[in-house]
Amino acid sequence: MNFDQAPLLVIWETTQACDLSCVHCRASAMPERNPGELTTGDALRLLDQIQRFGTSPLMVFTGGDPLKRLDLFPLLRRSAELGLRTNVSPSATPLLTNEAVRRFQECGVARMAISLDGPDAASHDEFRGVPGTFDRAMAALEEARRIGLETQIQTTVTRRNMHRLPEIAERVAEVGGKMWSLFFLIVTGRAMCADDLTAEEYEQVFDTLYRVSKTMPFDVKTTEGMHYRRFVAQRIKEEHAKREDNQKVMWRTAGVSDGKGFVFVSHTGEIYPSGFLPVSAGNVRTDNLVSVYRNSSLFLLLRDMDMREGKCGLCEYHNICGGSRARAFAVTGNYLAEDPRCSYQPAGV
Ligand code: SF4
Repeated sequence: MNFDQAPLLVIWETTQACDLSCVHCRASAMPERNPGELTTGDALRLLDQIQRFGTSPLMVFTGGDPLKRLDLFPLLRRSAELGLRTNVSPSATPLLTNEAVRRFQECGVARMAISLDGPDAASHDEFRGVPGTFDRAMAALEEARRIGLETQIQTTVTRRNMHRLPEIAERVAEVGGKMWSLFFLIVTGRAMCADDLTAEEYEQVFDTLYRVSKTMPFDVKTTEGMHYRRFVAQRIKEEHAKREDNQKVMWRTAGVSDGKGFVFVSHTGEIYPSGFLPVSAGNVRTDNLVSVYRNSSLFLLLRDMDMREGKCGLCEYHNICGGSRARAFAVTGNYLAEDPRCSYQPAGV
């Protein structure tokens, strides 16, 4: 894909309302909806704009908890009717009933994403701040499996759970998840510095993921962990290995980063390069998403690899990685700075 013209993924934060209180919540979600959220009419216009990219990007309805929106199901249906591959990422609360899971499928949702931050109720519920969340997540995954709705499991990687990732991987396999999507902490929202991994810990986690990707029957994907692609490229080189099936997702997303192949629309319509990089290039209420993505100075700058600073500007892997712009911004205030959690020393440094 030409990421200068269209993103691979569009993420819409349908609402920041959520009945959980997760320790790492990017959105600092709270139970009540914000009256400034996009209306149903705004959302329908947004979906039309996304279709005009002409490439059917993956359309992700996220939150907060999308189920807090009363118009969620008609909007999901419209998205699917427009030919967008539609994913939804509900929170595991009492709103996520078996009927809701079945309605996702009826509306044409291609995949449901559910979070698992620990391999058991004690560890996961501690993360999510509400007892019973693990059991609800597992019940929803079980129902999806029963009716044949594809699922993906999402895990936010922090100091608290980095040593339990192999056990979480076992759960992903048990519930038949098609993909394990790992989010690497950006210190924003409720996330705390103490939970952030060091550059060396990233390498340890990447080693675990690489081993998982070779043995487990699901795909592994990282968000804000772009340097996992560099890690895999290094390993393949060392091992003289072929690109195995389980790594095909990684190669499909090679080069995707904040603002490049990726665009995030906030609950109030702000257009961000990523949900973890809250620098706005416009608002879908007044600006055209397609033209902001293609032509805004912010998105053009983020896609220009020659503008990367520090190690990321000199790195031979910058075309498949490029570092997390969100992490650079969160840690240094400069979204063009090198990724501060990468231990790799490029040849030119
Ligand atoms: S130095 Fe930057 S571009 Fe190179 S691997 Fe690390 S994060 Fe990626």
